Amino acid sequence: MAQLSDDCFAFGGPMMSVDEAVGLITTRVSAIADLETVALADADGRVLARDVAAPLPLPPFTNSAVDGYALRNADLPGSAERAFPLDGRIQAGGLVQAPIRPGHTARIFTGAPMPPEAETVFMQEDVRIDDSGKIVLPPGLKRGANVRPAGEDIPQGHLALRAGQRLRPPHVALAAAFGLTGLEVVRRIRVAVFSTGDELASPGEPRAASQLFDSNRFMLMAMLRRLGCEVSDLGILRDERSSLANGLKQVAGHHDLILTTGGVSTGEEDHVKAAVESIGSLVLWRMAIKPGRPVAMGIIDGTPLIGLPGNPVASFVTFVHVVRPTVLALAGGLPEPLTPIPLRAAFTYRKKAGRREYVRASLRRAQDGGLEATKFPREGAGLLSSLVETDGLVELGEDITNVEPGQDVGFLSYADLL
Ligand code: AMP
Ligand code: MG
Repeated sequence: MAQLSDDCFAFGGPMMSVDEAVGLITTRVSAIADLETVALADADGRVLARDVAAPLPLPPFTNSAVDGYALRNADLPGSAERAFPLDGRIQAGGLVQAPIRPGHTARIFTGAPMPPEAETVFMQEDVRIDDSGKIVLPPGLKRGANVRPAGEDIPQGHLALRAGQRLRPPHVALAAAFGLTGLEVVRRIRVAVFSTGDELASPGEPRAASQLFDSNRFMLMAMLRRLGCEVSDLGILRDERSSLANGLKQVAGHHDLILTTGGVSTGEEDHVKAAVESIGSLVLWRMAIKPGRPVAMGIIDGTPLIGLPGNPVASFVTFVHVVRPTVLALAGGLPEPLTPIPLRAAFTYRKKAGRREYVRASLRRAQDGGLEATKFPREGAGLLSSLVETDGLVELGEDITNVEPGQDVGFLSYADLL
């Protein structure tokens, strides 16, 4: 399990920028050390534990990039076409031991190994066969054309996959191309998830007239799973200090991270703060981010706790900026900074300087073909529809106070966040 010191999340200033928060997390959260080997078919989404050097070159042998005809460079037609007698036929998977004869051409297919001493391939579309059955090759082809030399993709011994890489399908493909059957990865980060609040009922349970169904827990669990975590669903804790403390204490030590939602503002009925303080240490991070509210950062028996706000949109946005980097750091993953893609705003917006804001937005094609972002018409941090009906977040940096239609802004697609 992760073992962090009690003052791990301590921070000096009153307000914290998003970059400061991410910087603190990446420098203070240490990676768990438990590794396991997974079959390639199960490796997608896992964090690679060790560097992988290419055990063989890719491609492993020099081969033809096209269906066509191979020959020696010395035989390449100079200024006029030239007819060649055929010497052999090599299909993909076939192998020819004897060098190609000077003055001859060999029929060859895509992916077939080049015969010894053949150096260039003519595409079959550029070739004609004359009445005597000879192959007529046109002039002007470059030496070495249409050939894929061994190792042109990756030379043998090259550092091909880096420790800390969160594996995506092409990484898995590369490991397979090396003939590997499994990869050593960091074991899944175990996260305990609680919702807090007397007003919450779990779907499937009766809902009193003053209650709403708990939606955050399901959103957060789904987001964690997309980050490769193993999630324990621990249901809803009531707004009462001792039961909160008991619930949290029980899971610390068996999990790498405890995640809660709700109850971390500074109102009288926000009991998570007091509960964590009674069994561990806690600091409230007042992040300069909207939607946001304070995020509680705690340590219980060495296990980190993150308390997200209860409003669904604030919970979503703070997850992205606090939980995502924490999970990556716990898994020893390379940092994956979020890079907003520039596009045009199709809306007007005013904001305060000094804090970063995220505007829920949809993409559309403008008349000139450019991409632009339209703003969701309402702003409440409780509106789940605002997340469901949009494509991503427009990021407005700390210095921006004003957005006008046509202005360049940065856009983070929901698809890129997890
Ligand atoms: P809190 O952060 O506890 O003050 O809650 C802020 C708002 O978010 C309140 O309107 C809560 O009812 C709502 N809320 C809190 N937790 C959840 C949850 N798990 N699912 C949906 N809404 C929630
Ligand atoms: Mg509450």
